[in-house]
Amino acid sequence: MLKDDLKYLYEIQKLDIEIDELSTNLESIPERIRQLTLDLEKHKNSIEKEKEAIEHLKESKSDVEKKLSNIKIALEKNKKKEKVIKTGREGESLLKEKENLMRDEEFYTNKLKEINDKIEKSTMNLSNLEDSLEDVINSTKEDIKLYNEKEQELKNEIEELEDKKKRIAVHIEDPAIVKKYERIRENRDGVGVVVIDKPICGGCFVKLPQEIYNELKRGEEIYYCEICGRILLWKGFIDE
Ligand SMILES: [Zn+2]
Repeated sequence: MLKDDLKYLYEIQKLDIEIDELSTNLESIPERIRQLTLDLEKHKNSIEKEKEAIEHLKESKSDVEKKLSNIKIALEKNKKKEKVIKTGREGESLLKEKENLMRDEEFYTNKLKEINDKIEKSTMNLSNLEDSLEDVINSTKEDIKLYNEKEQELKNEIEELEDKKKRIAVHIEDPAIVKKYERIRENRDGVGVVVIDKPICGGCFVKLPQEIYNELKRGEEIYYCEICGRILLWKGFIDE
């Protein structure tokens, strides 16, 4: 009977909606795994970057130390020359040179301190990143394993629901109705059949002509919403 076909169709739709939800979940898993792998790569990259930064800082440090050592030598020379000054002009120029050297010495001493602070900070950061790397690797592995399990679980659940659908579908007398339902469902946000208990389409909420409403309660013919095309099912049939 058509009434029963519609009822079975409605059961099939309930399963289809469940399958859709599970499929959405299933389809999101590869992206989640990709994100986890990406996060791990980021962590590893941070370690490499920090190592490079430290190398770079150490090079700068060595440059600054060389400069300071040259300044020190120059200051000693300046001091020696001071003892054998012959003219006032010589004395002036030596003093000027000394002042410049001392200013440079102060500048590079501060710079060295700054670099040392940065090295200390970066070294600490590197050590933290290295310490936590193993945990990140392990938790990533564990999460990916869980996602893979979840993936299999969802596939099994979907398969079970598909089987259930097939078992219901064999009871449907007119298989063409299933094809129609599937086509409507595809074009109408996953809802091919709507249950109604008043003369209003449960899909697009348009008002239905009273005659149609009365007719479809008889369950002798399939009625479609004139606006959205969905199959209309009188609520009384599924409550029977
Ligand atoms: Zn409608």
